Amino acid sequence: MARKKREEEEEESSGEEAGAKKSKKEKYVDPEKLLEEYLEEVKLGLNLSYLNLDRDVFRDIIKEPFIAAVGQVKTKPKVRTIVNRLNASGDALLEYIAAKLLQTISLSKMSDEQFEFVVYHVGKLVNELAATLYAEAKRRNRPDLIDFMRSLWNQSSSLRSPVTCPKCGFRAIMPDLSCKVCGYVMQMRELKDNLHLMEQLKDMASTNPEEFKEIVSSGYLFYGSLGPSAPSRFKAESGGIYYEVILTAQEKDQLRKLYSSLQQR
Ligand SMILES: [Zn+2]
Repeated sequence: MARKKREEEEEESSGEEAGAKKSKKEKYVDPEKLLEEYLEEVKLGLNLSYLNLDRDVFRDIIKEPFIAAVGQVKTKPKVRTIVNRLNASGDALLEYIAAKLLQTISLSKMSDEQFEFVVYHVGKLVNELAATLYAEAKRRNRPDLIDFMRSLWNQSSSLRSPVTCPKCGFRAIMPDLSCKVCGYVMQMRELKDNLHLMEQLKDMASTNPEEFKEIVSSGYLFYGSLGPSAPSRFKAESGGIYYEVILTAQEKDQLRKLYSSLQQR
């Protein structure tokens, strides 16, 4: 930002010299020509040679960030300067390159190095890409990459759910009980077991009897990141995953009995 400002000021002051502006403007460095000249060195400087990308492919991928890094300048910058600027944007640049790679080369045609690069730099795109990348990592028999994606998802996905999928281990069970990553569909019974729901409700009977009573009489509850809630008390956190859980007749019966035994104490 600071760089851009300075150059704008420079441009203004040069414009003050009457008539000089036009000829000065023609002297701006053409970033696309510069990219042709520096392409191989930029690839080396960003440590991306191992991806073995064709010259054309790499040019298309790096073009926008390169032009931004050059800026509007009248003196030709050294390649080292541009590479430093690009490297300064760190993960953001690598995530951008990963996204571009995905647009350019189909997953099944990527080399192992290219596929690894995409997985390691999927960043915020993990929500939308986890299922595709998971399937591809399975096809390539790369449990290490699945492990990496799983910890990324479980730590940082805004779609991580209160329930871990028994098949893939991602916290990706959606409100319809299907897994967003591997497609497994949980049964209601399995969800309840996974959450230790009955134990949680039994605890609630003594800690929060009013809410417990409401759950038993309405026959259902909501389950979100804060645990079980009676329908009237549940507030869906914005974007948070939650489940509507229906109690069976048998479960209601069991909970009613528990409640009356607590009352008799
Ligand atoms: Zn799954």
